[in-house]
Amino acid sequence: MVKIAGGFGASELFQFLRDGEPRTRAELAQLTGLARSTISLRIDELLEHGLVTPVGEAVSTGGRPPAQIALNPGARVVVAADLGATHGRVAITDLSGTVLRSVFEDLVIDNGPEVVLDWLVLTINRLMVECDRPISDLVAVGIGLPGPVEHESGRPTNPPIMPGWDGYDVPAHMRRTFSVPILVDNDVNIMALGERAMGWPDADNIIFVKVSTGIGLGIIGGGVLQRGAQGIAGDIGHVKIPRGAGVVCKCGNEGCLEAIAGSPAIIADLRGIGRDITTVAELVALVKSGDTSAIQAVRQAGRDIGEVLTVCVSIINPSVITIGGALAQAGEHIIAGVREVVYSRSTPFAAEHLSIVQSRAGEMAGVAGASIMAIERALSPEGIEGIGA
Ligand SMILES: [Zn+2]
Repeated sequence: MVKIAGGFGASELFQFLRDGEPRTRAELAQLTGLARSTISLRIDELLEHGLVTPVGEAVSTGGRPPAQIALNPGARVVVAADLGATHGRVAITDLSGTVLRSVFEDLVIDNGPEVVLDWLVLTINRLMVECDRPISDLVAVGIGLPGPVEHESGRPTNPPIMPGWDGYDVPAHMRRTFSVPILVDNDVNIMALGERAMGWPDADNIIFVKVSTGIGLGIIGGGVLQRGAQGIAGDIGHVKIPRGAGVVCKCGNEGCLEAIAGSPAIIADLRGIGRDITTVAELVALVKSGDTSAIQAVRQAGRDIGEVLTVCVSIINPSVITIGGALAQAGEHIIAGVREVVYSRSTPFAAEHLSIVQSRAGEMAGVAGASIMAIERALSPEGIEGIGA
């Protein structure tokens, strides 16, 4: 990790400060192997841009107490946007991920990228004004979309529920207004990042399950989000499962997990026996009201999801499976179904060390993850160069 070479600039030095821990110039010299005079020059550059700030006083070894330097989280801001099929949550956060301002509004992703992204631009501008921050304080934008995304290019790839978005250059659209890095990812991936940061900071192997209209996984392996070769790792909604035999999915195949355990399938089944519900929220309310058929249907969906998760447990060996998404609001019933199958089918050793629980980040998981994604980029050596250090 220690880089002792020519061209060690302020942006590289900053990497030793971005965790927020205060450090003295002497500690930084020891960490980097650089001369104290070089450290002082670089620190001055960072101080000038406000990215670090002197804090407290370190324990003195005699004489004048050495000043400590730490990240100044309020120096700049990022945008975190979690866009779903029918709603969007947009937040402005500081460089520690603290939400300064956020909104949750209706949107229709089917309206296509031009309309939705123009709305996002207006919303960002409004939030920045409400935060009393100039646009020049904005250093990155993180966006989650409800479909597969090629993370490198920021373009959606064959998204099933997003007509008009396939291959659309989302970063280019946003950069018409904001000349900062624009990071785009699948919503389940950013939810996994947010869930880990807010709920399981010490766990390196986590599966986040989003259960809603669609079913997908965000996988953290070895502490790193696993996107896979095309950005669709964890896209389990169209894995074939035995109970789905004969059920045709909207993708055209038969027996897909989503076609029997996604919320539209559960709602259709319950309507078939006379329950007057159309939305996930109504389904969740029905479960909470104690309706036995609804509870059984949701528990069965949990078992179906558990079938696929059992395979994932064998491959990934996670310490935590966390269940989020709109249908997770139905509480313990869906989790009980997942546990029932995963614990009975997994190898005893894997099961013994595996927690299967409800999402801790809840509805803020997506925004938290989008913020992390944006901050990661903004505070990387290239990002800091862009800020001007
Ligand atoms: Zn399918």
